[in-house]
Amino acid sequence: MNFIFSVNFPYKHFTTTKSAGDMKNKVERDSLFRSIGLNPENLVLANQVHGSAIKIVKRCDKNTFIDNCDGLITDDKNLLLGIFTADCIPILVSCNNDEVKAVVHVGWKGLYLGIVESVIGILINGFCISSKSLKVYIGPHIRSCCYKTGIEMEDKFNVKLANGKLNLSAIVRAKLESCGVNKIFDVNQCTCHNEQLFFSYRRDCCTDRLLSVI
Ligand SMILES: [Zn+2]
Repeated sequence: MNFIFSVNFPYKHFTTTKSAGDMKNKVERDSLFRSIGLNPENLVLANQVHGSAIKIVKRCDKNTFIDNCDGLITDDKNLLLGIFTADCIPILVSCNNDEVKAVVHVGWKGLYLGIVESVIGILINGFCISSKSLKVYIGPHIRSCCYKTGIEMEDKFNVKLANGKLNLSAIVRAKLESCGVNKIFDVNQCTCHNEQLFFSYRRDCCTDRLLSVI
């Protein structure tokens, strides 16, 4: 199996699995895209930095990496947006019958810096989209079954750790709901847990990355 996706999330999207290979490798990535009839030249990627910056991308950005950001938004239907992960949360957003879409890389730092509120704010205020029409996909990531963290996370996120473990997706969900977003589709997969399917930085200290695309 090369992909997983949410059957309920309405837009064309996927997250690669281990068997698709390291998606940071351009040769492997391009060959995967061609095998499913997608033109890899239409893809826009980010040089992710665990920050909270979001960039709006246009046709002229196709086939490039955008520097210093962890989120991409476009209203160009021909573009594909992608985000690399190996334990952090890949978030995909589709709006207004898929006229506008976004990808976001969310680790604890970006979450703390407000990247989730930031992308939703840009979509609502910059693109005049109603929060009710936003649909959000939460891809495979390290979940509360495996994500042991320091106690300082309790203050950062105003939560209680359960057995020393942080529930990132619960925080994402609460932030989305506070922005008025209620169409949330979580694939409920843990990257650290499922060694067969996913790369996990926490488990393997690997440099291989999964790719989520919308
Ligand atoms: Zn787990």
